[in-house]
Amino acid sequence: MLKARKRFGQNFLTDPNTINRIISAIRPGADDRILEIGPGHGAITESLLASKADLTVVEIDRDLVAELGARFPDLAIVESDILKADLDGLIQPGTRVVGNLPYNISTPLLFRLFEHVTRIHDMHFMLQLEVVDRLTASPSTSDYGRLTVMASCFCHAEKLFEVPPGAFTPRPKVTSAIVRLTPARHGLVVDDVALLEQLVTRVFSQRRKTIRNGFKGILSADELTDLGIDPSLRPENLDLSDFIACANAAAGKSQ
Ligand code: SAM
Repeated sequence: MLKARKRFGQNFLTDPNTINRIISAIRPGADDRILEIGPGHGAITESLLASKADLTVVEIDRDLVAELGARFPDLAIVESDILKADLDGLIQPGTRVVGNLPYNISTPLLFRLFEHVTRIHDMHFMLQLEVVDRLTASPSTSDYGRLTVMASCFCHAEKLFEVPPGAFTPRPKVTSAIVRLTPARHGLVVDDVALLEQLVTRVFSQRRKTIRNGFKGILSADELTDLGIDPSLRPENLDLSDFIACANAAAGKSQ
């Protein structure tokens, strides 16, 4: 039985078939520069190294850092909390990011990585299925929300496959899934990303209200109509381009 620290969200992958499927999805190559977040006991790390990719791993658990160092003497290991680590240094242009992520930090980590997305080639993550469903949701569905809109602003998200609790030791309570995120190519220009995030957070915190109410004090019903958006819609009915149009209009007004 592997010793696991709950506070670090440790559920180690132990099913060889799942590990092979993840590696086949990533297809690491000798020319790749890869950053692995949370290598744990090295379930994925070992195959990433075998591909001869230029690999750096970031692990918070000091005992695991020592174990990995002894097992893979040439591996570049950074002992750090990925939420505080220097991502400017760790993510060089073209870096591929991978990880079976600790579920308790997955959303803040994704938002942090989005800030560096222009230097990222792609990302493959194991996440809670529920989070992957939210990342890949379509408008007008119950999974569609703040995470969907903000993630789609930065990335295209694809759900690759689900992973049952039995693939891990210890078994998590929930089903997981692998998601691939690639930098977005929608070509839409956001004038003020912080404002977009603020607006999206605000309207989805009252997702049952019409956007006429959700945007009160920011954009009037007439201004929404002028943008081609029906003020009687609910936030889940708006797509990314609608939200960006609203945020850009709001940014224009405050200047
Ligand atoms: N990659 C391994 C596997 O698939 O078996 C371990 C996955 S386990 C779900 C998550 C890993 O992330 C653990 O090794 C844990 O110690 C590490 N971790 C947790 N929080 C972290 C953080 N803030 N920064 C870096 N690593 C973290």
